[in-house]
Amino acid sequence: DLVIENLTKAFNLLKAIDDVSLTVADGEFVTLLGPSGCGKSTTLGAIAGLDRADIGRIRLGNQVFFDGAESRFMPPEKRDIGLVFQSYALWPHMTVRKNLEYPLKLRKVPAKERDSRIDEVLDLVEMAPYADRYPFALSGGQQQRVALARTLVYRPRLLLLDEPLSNLDAKLRERARIWLRNIQSRVNVTTVYVTHDQIEALALSDRIAVMSKGKIVQLAPPRVVYDNPATEFVADFIGSAN
Ligand code: ATP
Ligand code: MG
Repeated sequence: DLVIENLTKAFNLLKAIDDVSLTVADGEFVTLLGPSGCGKSTTLGAIAGLDRADIGRIRLGNQVFFDGAESRFMPPEKRDIGLVFQSYALWPHMTVRKNLEYPLKLRKVPAKERDSRIDEVLDLVEMAPYADRYPFALSGGQQQRVALARTLVYRPRLLLLDEPLSNLDAKLRERARIWLRNIQSRVNVTTVYVTHDQIEALALSDRIAVMSKGKIVQLAPPRVVYDNPATEFVADFIGSAN
């Protein structure tokens, strides 16, 4: 499980993360949902180790990622995570297959195993026919699927996704939600997903953490957040206010 305790991070006087505690069970899909500037990306960045929090603890199973009190900080490349941002930069000079092979080479996966793993994940994101194309010859949605495949291929223990569908048009987003959910149910990787889109959060998540001004104001399954918003802010944001 991923355990975050009392996490706090300030930029000057602004607390971007304000005493956030959150436990994500193995295989669970939890979404950080909230308006622009509420601290979603900063929280994800702290989990990934791109950013160092000031106070609190983060661990994944028995790997301690961060402990403010003991000044422990595991560098991002040592953390067993896969990260996808909205700018899904694939390596432009490599084909889809080479893009996926690279992280496997880095992790010293034997050559004979690489191909079968690559074929498996390309199949999962329905991109098998595009294996030999270069990124420029793919649509934005196809590139996003390859970016996701590139993190899934090395089987991280934790998947961190920051608005991975934000560059897609409405129709494609809807389709992308469906394949994301399919992937999640098949791979069953622990996932923290960031979005400001409440429909996306309601459709994908096991639980939603609604954030406002650096704090989690409600943490509950989609149904509960929708039917029983904890505060007026949550009701407004989810659009279930009446
Ligand atoms: P969005 O939906 O717009 O991506 P977010 O919820 O991801 O928003 P964050 O990027 O986590 O928001 O930012 C939280 C707050 O911290 C914002 O007020 C932002 O301006 C501030 N902030 C983030 N990074 C920095 C930084 N490097 N220096 C100063 N302030 C920062
Ligand atoms: Mg953000």
